[in-house]
Amino acid sequence: MTKTIIRGGKIVTSQAVTCADILMENGVITAIQPDLEFADATQINVHGKLIFPGGVDVHTHMPWPTGSFISTDTFASGSRAAAFGGVTCVIDFAIPSEEESLQSSLNRKLIEAEQEAWVDYSFHINIRGDVPSKLNEIPGLVQAGFPSFKVFMAYEGFRLEDADLLNVLKTVKEAGGMVNVHAENGPLADYLTTELIRQGKRSLAFYPQARPAICEEEAVTRLLTYQEQIGVRLHIHHVSSAAAIDLIRAARTTGQPLTAETCPQYLFFSDEDYQGDSQLAAALVCAPSIKSKHDQDVLWQGLKDGTLSAVATDHCPYSLEQKFSGGNDFSLVPGGMAGVETRLPILFHYGVNAEKLSLTQFAYVWAEGPARSFGLFPQKGTIAVGSDADLVIFDPDEQWTLRATDLHMNTDCLAYEGIPVTGRPVMTILRGEVIVEDNHLVSDQPRGTLIPRSLQAEYIL
Ligand SMILES: [Zn+2]
Repeated sequence: MTKTIIRGGKIVTSQAVTCADILMENGVITAIQPDLEFADATQINVHGKLIFPGGVDVHTHMPWPTGSFISTDTFASGSRAAAFGGVTCVIDFAIPSEEESLQSSLNRKLIEAEQEAWVDYSFHINIRGDVPSKLNEIPGLVQAGFPSFKVFMAYEGFRLEDADLLNVLKTVKEAGGMVNVHAENGPLADYLTTELIRQGKRSLAFYPQARPAICEEEAVTRLLTYQEQIGVRLHIHHVSSAAAIDLIRAARTTGQPLTAETCPQYLFFSDEDYQGDSQLAAALVCAPSIKSKHDQDVLWQGLKDGTLSAVATDHCPYSLEQKFSGGNDFSLVPGGMAGVETRLPILFHYGVNAEKLSLTQFAYVWAEGPARSFGLFPQKGTIAVGSDADLVIFDPDEQWTLRATDLHMNTDCLAYEGIPVTGRPVMTILRGEVIVEDNHLVSDQPRGTLIPRSLQAEYIL
C-alpha cells in the first residue's frame, strides 16, 4: 500500500473551507483530519496553499472536425493541458458519422483515449443522422456507463428534426439516461447569417447579429416544453443568455430534472469584444455567440444561486491561421476556442477574487456540480473519504499573465492572451499520483482511465 499525506493546506469543497491533512492510499482518500501521522507515509507539505477537488470539465472536444477544419488539440495534447490546468477528469464526445453506429463512434474514441489520456475521462455520445436506426443502442450504452447523449438543435448535418429529437428524449428517458443539448435555433441563425452576407455585412463585428440571444431563448423554450411532456433528465450546454437563465430557473423550480452549464468565455467577455481587435474577435467566434454585459451579469448570478451547476469550457481550439483562412469573414471562421487549461485561473480570479463567487461556490461549479450533473459524483468532484484522490494544490497569491506560449494547449490563438490573474495551480494529483508540479509534467506516461458513470437522482441538485 502506498500512503501519502498532503499536509497543512486549506481544503476547499462546496460545503466548507477547512484546515486538515489528507491521507491518500492507493488512489483514494482514506482520511481527512488535522495532524495525521503515519510513520510509513510520504509527505507533501502544502502550507499556505488551497486544496481544490481536481477539476471536472464536462465539455471538451479533442479534437473536433468542423467543415474542412479540425481543431488543434488531440486527446494527448488536450488532456495534458487539462492536467496543467488542474483538471483531472474530462468528458469529451463520441461523434458518429451519419450512418455510423453509436458504439462504433465510441470505440474509436476509447482507443484514442486509452493511449493518450493524461487525465481520467468519459464520453458523451452524439446522436445524429439516421436517428431511428440508432435508438436501440441507447439502453446498452446507459448500462455500460455512458448515460449521456448529446444532441444539437443547430448546425445542418448535426441538428435533429423535432420528431427525431422527441424520439431521442423518450428513448433516453426509458433507458434511464440523460440528454445534453446544444440549444440554439440553428435554422434561424443560418437565415440571419445568410441575410447579413447578402447585405455585405461579413466582418467579425457582425457575428453577434448572426446568433442573437433569441436563438437560444427559442430553443431552450422548445426543449423545456418537450421535457415537460416527457420528463427526461436534461443538461443544457454553454448557456449564454439571461433569457435562458430565467427559463432554466423557472423549470428547475417546478422540479424538472434539469442542469445547465456556462463557459468562462460567456462570463469574461461580452459582445463588445467582437467590435475591436480582430484577433480577439476571431478567437471569440464560437456558438452560442458571446452576449451582452447584462447577460454576463445574469450568468454570474445563475452560478451564485445554483441555476447553473457547472462551468465547462467547450474546449475546441483552432490556430490563428485556421481562424483567418477565410479572411475577416465571420461566416468562414471555424467556431471554437481554447479553454481547458484556463478555466481555473479565470474562474478563480474573475470569480472568487472579484467577489462574484465564494470559495465554496467556486468549488461547486469547478468540480462537484459538473460531477453530479453527469454521474461522476461522489467518485469525482469532491474531497471526501472514499472519493478518488484527485486534487489541485493552488497558490492563491501568485500573479501571472495568461499567454498561449506559456500554456500547453496546442494553439497560438488564445482569447485570454495578456490577461493578468492572481492565483495559479502548482500541483495536480490524479488518483493519488502527482502528475504536474510547478508547471512541469511529472508523470512519465498518460495514466488517465475511463470512469464508468451512473446517474442517481439524489445527486442532482
Ligand atoms: Zn461543444
